[in-house]
Amino acid sequence: MSTEPRIDLHTHSSVSDGTQTPTELVRAAAAAGIDVLGLTDHDTARGWDEAGRAAAEAGVALVRGMEISTRYGGPGGPGVHLLAYLLDPTHPGLDAELDRVLGGRGGRVPAMVEALRGLGIRITVADVEAQATDSVATGRPHVADALVALGVVGHRDQAFAEYLQEGRPAYVGRHAADLRTMVGLVADAGGVAVVAHPWGRVDPARLDGAALAGLRDAGLTGLEVDHQDHTDAQRRELRAIAADLDLVVTGSSDHHGTGKTDHDLGCHTTAPAELDRLLGRAAAAAAASGRAVPPGPGSRPV
Ligand code: AMP
Ligand code: FE
Ligand code: FE
Ligand code: ZN
Repeated sequence: MSTEPRIDLHTHSSVSDGTQTPTELVRAAAAAGIDVLGLTDHDTARGWDEAGRAAAEAGVALVRGMEISTRYGGPGGPGVHLLAYLLDPTHPGLDAELDRVLGGRGGRVPAMVEALRGLGIRITVADVEAQATDSVATGRPHVADALVALGVVGHRDQAFAEYLQEGRPAYVGRHAADLRTMVGLVADAGGVAVVAHPWGRVDPARLDGAALAGLRDAGLTGLEVDHQDHTDAQRRELRAIAADLDLVVTGSSDHHGTGKTDHDLGCHTTAPAELDRLLGRAAAAAAASGRAVPPGPGSRPV
């Protein structure tokens, strides 16, 4: 018999590129037996209030977070997603950097549309905007959804594989925050930073144990080890690195509603003891910085 809380610390709503509103996402999590849910939309805290209200109603504990688009080691370095939890999103330096990231996201839609039109696909910016009505983090997933709506491809994944991922003809890069700088900003904003799927879409050699040790020294708190994008062998290796560096180990679904297949809520979870460590370090970061996420409904993790 298991009474352990089920903890899923990485999910997306329609505020970024998930297909469920924050309320729908929280309700779906409750229905899936999730007790503690991390809402981690890309580069924004915009969904927190709505999710908090829904969480209080549904009896789910909400961990307020975001997934920040960064780059490691300067231009040409790998793109790395950084999960940030329990930070004060009004921190001026953080807020300014998130604005730059979000501006770079939306700004590249016309270029992607032009590239697709050059391939003979009759897509417009309005088609993409129609797929991103709730989103403040418009990006490739919404272009992909427009291609699905136009009947060009059958699913988001196919749109990425054929047109939108790096190396494909409609790929357009964008601004990403410097990873090391962002780890420091998150701490300064009273939160904790966890590298999302560290080896998911990154060559492990470009973010190896030495790189992770350097990030730990810059204030990194954890690694998302259990994630669909990792092989079992990678998970074992990352767990060993985390133990060696005294980093918190998390596991999560990276759920995007119907936007990502094989990422059902709770498909990977975080151990309660690891959540306790994460919360302990967040409390320490909040005390050291004098900033913290403003408490709101549903904010008390069980
Ligand atoms: P963007 O931030 O606009 O560059 O889009 C990145 C988002 O697209 C990621 O957060 C994923 O949710 C999604 N994504 C990236 N690569 C793929 C892929 N190969 N297949 C499906 N979704 C992807
Ligand atoms: Fe995403
Ligand atoms: Fe990610
Ligand atoms: Zn994600």
